[in-house]
Amino acid sequence: MAKIISGKEVSEEIKEQLKGEVEELKKQGIFPGLAVIIVGDDPASRVYVNNKKKACERIGIYSEEYALSADVSEDEILSLIDELNRKDSISGILVQLPLPKHISEKNVIERINPKKDVDAFHPVNVGKIMTGDYDFVPCTPAGIMELIDRSGVLVEGKECVVIGRSNIVGKPMAMLLLHRNGTVTVCHSRTKNLREKTKNADILVAAVGKPNFVTGDMVKEGAVVIDVGINRLENKKLVGDVDFETAEKKAAAITPVPGGVGPMTIAMLMKNTVKAAVINKTGR
Ligand code: NDP
Repeated sequence: MAKIISGKEVSEEIKEQLKGEVEELKKQGIFPGLAVIIVGDDPASRVYVNNKKKACERIGIYSEEYALSADVSEDEILSLIDELNRKDSISGILVQLPLPKHISEKNVIERINPKKDVDAFHPVNVGKIMTGDYDFVPCTPAGIMELIDRSGVLVEGKECVVIGRSNIVGKPMAMLLLHRNGTVTVCHSRTKNLREKTKNADILVAAVGKPNFVTGDMVKEGAVVIDVGINRLENKKLVGDVDFETAEKKAAAITPVPGGVGPMTIAMLMKNTVKAAVINKTGR
């Protein structure tokens, strides 16, 4: 039976720790603040934004929400970002994606001051992840690294296989594992003989977006399996990209869905916001 790596528990610990840090920072005149911009009325985005606001309240981070209508112009969003870039009470700016089709996500992301880019999507921060000289890491891969660390497995020298090469999960995940001296293979929809690759993995990260895609026969005996997927089935059940039942029989440790990677993403957003407050105030 695999050890279940509970992102729910770890994220609670991180949030408690951050609460203490924020209290200390406030004594030094550093007040973390997060601005969240949400455009339109996508229900999933609304849930994410509400959860982010709740986490801020819990930790003692000041937050502002800008809920804009779906027909807002790109110029209006860019002007708002300019204003937030200048605002001392705001250390982190997050634009909830996806944006409506008529707005360029690229233009919006590139307008954010990289020092306030707590999602780490700005090209400056993406580049820093390449070189290893980074302040902010995208929240989902950052959360996964925390979970791997807490599973007690050392990455160094391990065969790491990441399924998925998106800019927000797969690619930064691969870089983080590489910086930790893992031997990294990145798989995607054109990968041949996927099972051969995954069967080799000491650490397997699935970020595919397909329900129960990774089955037990694709998992190496004793592997650490990280399931990034969030898939809603027709019967409303939430499942990951890993078929938990069969994979769990092979893995040494595995993350569940829900309660695995998901809660870590918000905890790491909070961590980045606190870090941004220090960087913006002290330049460090
Ligand atoms: P994307 O759709 O951007 O990327 C999916 C990746 O999977 C692509 O690189 C794609 O390859 C690859 N892929 C698709 N089909 C196959 C296949 N048959 N074999 C191998 N690879 C395949 O998704 P994201 O990275 O944004 O998200 C992945 C999952 O993680 C989703 O379920 C999403 O909901 C979830 N997620 C969860 C988060 C959390 O907080 N827990 C945060 C972000 C995402 P190709 O590039 O060739 O198309």
